[in-house]
Amino acid sequence: IQSLLDSEFTSNTQTADGTEIEIHLNAGLSADTGIAINDGVDGVGLYRTEIPFLMQSSFPSEDDQCALYQSILEAYRGQPVVMRSLDIGGDKPLPYLTIEEDNPFLGWRGIRFTLDHPDIFLMQIRAMLRASDGMDNLAILLPMVSGLNELLDAKVLIQRAFDEVAELFDAEGKTLHPPSLGVMVEVPSILYQLDAVAQHVDFISVGTNDLTQYLLAVDRNNVRVADVYDSLHPAVIAALQSIVSTCQRNQLPVCVCGELAGDPLGAMLLIGMGYRQLSMNTRSVARIKYVLRHLDIKAVQEHVKTISSLTMADEIRAESESFLKLHN
Ligand code: PEP
Ligand code: MG
Repeated sequence: IQSLLDSEFTSNTQTADGTEIEIHLNAGLSADTGIAINDGVDGVGLYRTEIPFLMQSSFPSEDDQCALYQSILEAYRGQPVVMRSLDIGGDKPLPYLTIEEDNPFLGWRGIRFTLDHPDIFLMQIRAMLRASDGMDNLAILLPMVSGLNELLDAKVLIQRAFDEVAELFDAEGKTLHPPSLGVMVEVPSILYQLDAVAQHVDFISVGTNDLTQYLLAVDRNNVRVADVYDSLHPAVIAALQSIVSTCQRNQLPVCVCGELAGDPLGAMLLIGMGYRQLSMNTRSVARIKYVLRHLDIKAVQEHVKTISSLTMADEIRAESESFLKLHN
């Protein structure tokens, strides 16, 4: 048991045949960073910056944000930390900013909100860049991008923030390194623009929570339709396969940071499709590592081929459960 536990604390995760899988962490609370199991991950795949914003009674200042981001970047020095720009709206309203809408999930959330508030966006990006001083492990991720225009508009603002901070650093004799930039793939429209998006970003991150919600037109938090919300729906599976093949064609790094990546069945299917980076909550890390280490990638690829022809989520789930039972 001790050797099993020890192995969960080492960062290397390989399947039984030696295929490397990177395991990253979804974080949002600074308390997350102190947990020992986090030493066994390859970095932070998703830092949800709205969580600290939600816990305050007013908008945090640039300096406050900078101090917080610095502590996260420092805790994972030498490993990538993907910080997502503010994704408020939808199910994450800020207590000190009222947004009243009939359809919040289809409304003013994520990048839509911050592009309409460039002051808030610029302040946050400046804080991230200032926090990255001397560490070089910052990646910026944009949520809820539905078209290329939003990405390009955001890039103009990021460049502006970069120039401002670079000038500041210059005056102090320091150099600011450009962060890498990615977009969340979680609004279905972006699936059809991925080749174009690939020309403008360094990586993408797949948000299966929202991708499932928007592909199936089902509120992810509504218990009445909870049985309709299913990330193993054949349409979601097909979308995930299409995303990974577009990324491979474009040599674009891709990570999955939705809940599916932290679910044994989901993680198994994702690696069978070709995904090699998964990001998940702390509590899923040891379990997923354990599952992956017992799998042979060829067998999983065969299984994914089999389930790709199935037409119902229940069948995909049943087949995948028996596959996992047999191979774990
Ligand atoms: C997602 O949508 O899958 C995701 C990771 O982002 P969030 O759950 O914060 O919307
Ligand atoms: Mg999301």
